[in-house]
Amino acid sequence: MVATSMEQLVSLCKRRGFIFQNSDIYGGLQGVYDYGPLGVELKNNLKAAWWRAMVYERDDIEGLDSAILTNQKVLHYSGHEDTFSDPMTDCRKCKSRFRADHIKDGKCPNCGSTDLTEPRPFNLMFKTNIGPVDDGANFGYLRPETAQAIFTQFKNVVDSTSRKLPFGIAQIGKSFRNEITPRNFIFRVREFEQAELEYFVMPGEDEKWHEIWKEERIRWWEEQGLKRENINIYTTPKDDLAHYAKACYDIEYQFPHGMEELEGIANHTDYDLGNHTKAQDEMNLTSECHKNSDSTQKLCIMDDNNKWVIPFVIEPSMGVDRGVLAVMTEAYTEEDLGEGNSRIVLKLKKHLAPIKVAVIPLKKNNEQIMNKCREIKNNLLKLGIGRVALENTGNIGKAYRRHDEVGTPLCITVDFETIEQQPESVTIRDRDTMQQTRVKVADLKDYLRNYFAE
Ligand code: ATP
Repeated sequence: MVATSMEQLVSLCKRRGFIFQNSDIYGGLQGVYDYGPLGVELKNNLKAAWWRAMVYERDDIEGLDSAILTNQKVLHYSGHEDTFSDPMTDCRKCKSRFRADHIKDGKCPNCGSTDLTEPRPFNLMFKTNIGPVDDGANFGYLRPETAQAIFTQFKNVVDSTSRKLPFGIAQIGKSFRNEITPRNFIFRVREFEQAELEYFVMPGEDEKWHEIWKEERIRWWEEQGLKRENINIYTTPKDDLAHYAKACYDIEYQFPHGMEELEGIANHTDYDLGNHTKAQDEMNLTSECHKNSDSTQKLCIMDDNNKWVIPFVIEPSMGVDRGVLAVMTEAYTEEDLGEGNSRIVLKLKKHLAPIKVAVIPLKKNNEQIMNKCREIKNNLLKLGIGRVALENTGNIGKAYRRHDEVGTPLCITVDFETIEQQPESVTIRDRDTMQQTRVKVADLKDYLRNYFAE
């Protein structure tokens, strides 16, 4: 059980510059957040870890970066225009609006009244006018998921890379959903980022790949620091499956507000590619879905027997913001140091830490020490480990506490000994053990290279 509370995280995020309410000075915009100086680093590191695991470390996945604005027809044929909705209910007493499936015991979560309207579907997509004429006919949508462009670009990717099944297309990017009740900080928001993989397989091999991806994704989350005991795998009952899915696992995490979905891994069958495929049968396609009268393409691939098939697809789809919340929840630690002292430490995995190393001068505004700090920082940057921060506060104790709170794994202190004695040396302090080691400046690069390679 993770003991971290949402209040602790929200407070740390604001105090240390991870996450801020969007449009704060005008009273905020509900369900929309901005990532501050450290939040942007953490989020980028999480996305980079996903991209590395998907695109760089494997040989069967290509990347894509598609547009947010989406042609209405894409979301018509994907089924989103008709079915991408949540049931909405109103409280007649206090006039609050809720997702009907989030209401417990038939009572309004705001005032407790049982006088609620019948649930009615509310489409979550943001519709927007495209072009200078606002006559209601020229509209598109902000994409509600990144996946659809992967399907509509399927043929271009296959033709330009000569891929054969099985293979995948990965994408990270913004998605937008007009959530009825955004809540729980960055857990349920209206603008968020997704990291989605569409892994295309031969029909008949889908169930095997669904299991493989479930295991692979649990393993990846553990690598990001989540303990297995805080992860639950929820298998969606057949009756609750989305219209496109044959089976679905949710990777749930023990967030401060409860065990909830972090990532969905669905077996989409050939639903999406089939629905975006031009309606005609001369290719003898296997799918039942291809009744599309607007698409100009056949989104299929040749199998080993030179037969055209529409692949099945397995979709691991994670929320990047929920990922940030999960790794912060897991990493947040309050430690009792004895004698009335305590500290907050963000025990993030090294590769996720927003600042990798802080270079701290023992004395503020001392030119000699600062020059040495600058030289060390510039040298360490060449390692390509990420952000190396230079301090000029002169209060070592405070600097250590601050870097503990934001998860900086190592602090390097430059003191008078560094500049006065040969060979030059510095103190390296470890975030988790608080142990200090004296290291020669000449050995620093190797020391850090080894430390961050572990
Ligand atoms: P939920 O049931 O929580 O509304 P979902 O099943 O609709 O989520 P998917 O459509 O499967 O979500 O989207 C894949 C992932 O995108 C989710 O697992 C989640 O991490 C993330 N996600 C979806 N909606 C939001 C949101 N409003 N805010 C933040 N992340 C989201």
